[in-house]
Amino acid sequence: MKVLFVYPRKGLFQLTQCSECRYISKCHYCDTNLTTYRKNTNSLELICHQCQSYYSYPIKCPECGALDSVSSAFGGIEELVESLQKHLQVKVKRLDRNKSKKDSNLEKALLNSAIYNAYSGEISVTTRIFDPSIPYSVFDKIIFVQAENLLASPDYLVQEDIIGGVFHLINSIDKDKTEMIFDSSVKIDILEELARNPDAGIENWYYNFLESELDNRKIFGFPPYTNMLLLTSQQNSKEKAWNMIKAAQKDLTKSISKFEGIKIIDPYPARFLKRKNKYSYHLLIKFPRKYKEFAKFRDIILQTSGVYGLQSRLNPKHLF
Ligand SMILES: [Zn+2]
Ligand SMILES: [Zn+2]
Repeated sequence: MKVLFVYPRKGLFQLTQCSECRYISKCHYCDTNLTTYRKNTNSLELICHQCQSYYSYPIKCPECGALDSVSSAFGGIEELVESLQKHLQVKVKRLDRNKSKKDSNLEKALLNSAIYNAYSGEISVTTRIFDPSIPYSVFDKIIFVQAENLLASPDYLVQEDIIGGVFHLINSIDKDKTEMIFDSSVKIDILEELARNPDAGIENWYYNFLESELDNRKIFGFPPYTNMLLLTSQQNSKEKAWNMIKAAQKDLTKSISKFEGIKIIDPYPARFLKRKNKYSYHLLIKFPRKYKEFAKFRDIILQTSGVYGLQSRLNPKHLF
């Protein structure tokens, strides 16, 4: 029996903490918790997923100096692989390794044979929700591990992306052969509904889902009904990053809020407030579709962004 585990969490462990002082290992350049990876058979390292900085795994706590007090928890895909190998005594194949773009024909042929071999294994794992290069129909079971985490993102497009990915996956399996399992500690109706109902009208179901998402976007003023412009400050100091975005808000409130249909939302911190040693705050502006004042509006935005060193993005995929 061939089984595929889908688990969209990278690394060995997500959190590294001191048991004495509760200090959590974070990147020096970002505000991000570091992820533990296995460097080789008997040593670990910590990696920042934001800026790819590497750190050796602490022998003693960098905060309180306690020895042997640092440990890691909240497993990622690598822990899943290790525990499957340990408990089931099988070799587990990773299907989500990045393939190099520069592969020669020979390498391609080798790679294809390696990929071919991956499907002859009994157990495979991936961090990708949907990957067109995986022939899902060869599996007897596809198991989403800790599926409750799938929809635990605050972002307005994430749910749509994930449901879309799951939909494409279900659509590419042999529905009589492959069983979909959403392993979850809480009920996730939307995914269970998809898994339970792979034959009758899944396309209709997905279509209805997208339609209701569109209705939500209309209600909440998201694209395609409203255009969004996200301005972002990037400064070495937190105060300066905040002051720049506040000053831009003040200027823009004066210069563009008299235009029809413009809405300026109060600035807020970026989800990764500190990234690569820079601090960021966002200012979100909503304006109508097919905006007749667009040329004037754009000139003012460009000028203000220049003055305050802001990045601007039109209808960005993420608002955090
Ligand atoms: Zn400590
Ligand atoms: Zn970092």
